[in-house]
Amino acid sequence: MTKQAEYRIAVLSGDGIGVEVIAEAEKVLRAVGERFGCRFVTEPGLVGGAAMSATGEPLPAAALALCRASDAVLFGAVGDPRYDDPQAEKRPEQALLGLRKELGLFANLRPVQVHPALVDASPVRPEVVRGVDLVVVRELTGGIYFGEPRVEGSERAVDTMTYTRAEVERIAHLGFQIARGRRGKVTSVDKANILACSRLWRRTVEAVAREYPDVTLEHMLVDAAAMHLIRRPRDFDVLLTENQFGDILSDETSVLVGSMGMLPSASLGEGRFGLYEPIHGSAPDIAGQGIANPLAAILSAAMLLRHSLGREAEAQAVEDAVTAVLDAGHRTPDIAGPGQLTVTTSQMGDLVVQALIQ
Ligand code: NAD
Repeated sequence: MTKQAEYRIAVLSGDGIGVEVIAEAEKVLRAVGERFGCRFVTEPGLVGGAAMSATGEPLPAAALALCRASDAVLFGAVGDPRYDDPQAEKRPEQALLGLRKELGLFANLRPVQVHPALVDASPVRPEVVRGVDLVVVRELTGGIYFGEPRVEGSERAVDTMTYTRAEVERIAHLGFQIARGRRGKVTSVDKANILACSRLWRRTVEAVAREYPDVTLEHMLVDAAAMHLIRRPRDFDVLLTENQFGDILSDETSVLVGSMGMLPSASLGEGRFGLYEPIHGSAPDIAGQGIANPLAAILSAAMLLRHSLGREAEAQAVEDAVTAVLDAGHRTPDIAGPGQLTVTTSQMGDLVVQALIQ
């Protein structure tokens, strides 16, 4: 008898609804294991506010070691009102920046697909959002978020923004490779009319583009991109951009799909290892009520199956199960229309499991 494939997954649920939605993603992974005959050994680790309460650190060494010993990381969200002082030296959100840096996760992939059954969940007109299918490829370990912040008394503060050619090259290559497997178009977003980093970015992306003659490249200034993403989102295929612009624009894309609770993401480095998380935060406004949408977390688990474990059929099965549940009309409150019946977080997880094992 051949030995069953076994994978080690570090599970860092974090804070607030992170815990609630990751429980559903784990449920779905267990069902995938049963249907496809593989085993996911999930091991929990503490990050964020939960870790600060227990150890004083947002990213304890044990959590980092657990990630390093795993095939992939499933991450919930960090952020806790108890530690919300922006002046504090330690904050829950530092866990994510630390993980990205320590694990060399320089690329963030955020696929944005508007499900046909959810065109009315968006505040943007159905004829604009119908058929949207794009992926944001965001540089994750450079730029202003990894600069040298300095507070000079009470009157002045400084942040620095740096990019090297090598940093831009590696993310650009990934963007072009992804475009090759899709509709063959890269929109590179920058602010080259103002920023020196953006001029380096544009020059480097153009040089990389020569290696991908089959892919079309267009440049767009970030302010224009913010507008076109809402006016004509269907025109985007791969949106390639630096750290801060990607952070902002990818949250904007959640408006197209109707809720933060629908968007998954993958953070990747050089090899297959990756960290997978819903794009939303810990949502303290709804935490503990059992109403968070777990689909972004479940779709993140599908990305984990695809990118880190190479299990495409299993990833597709999870995505198909989510589609089937939405087609059948099941909704958490964030994506429900007026008067529409809603399900809880755990009921939504159960529905996806049922659709998966049918
Ligand atoms: P948020 O994403 O937590 O919530 C924004 C809004 O979207 C809220 O109204 C929330 O109820 C709603 N929402 C988010 N996810 C949802 C889901 N799955 N289902 C239904 N509704 C959902 O952003 P915020 O309120 O700005 O931040 C809250 C905390 O999370 C802060 O501490 C912030 O720093 C942190 N945060 C963490 C991450 C992360 O861990 N990756 C990302 C963003 C924010």
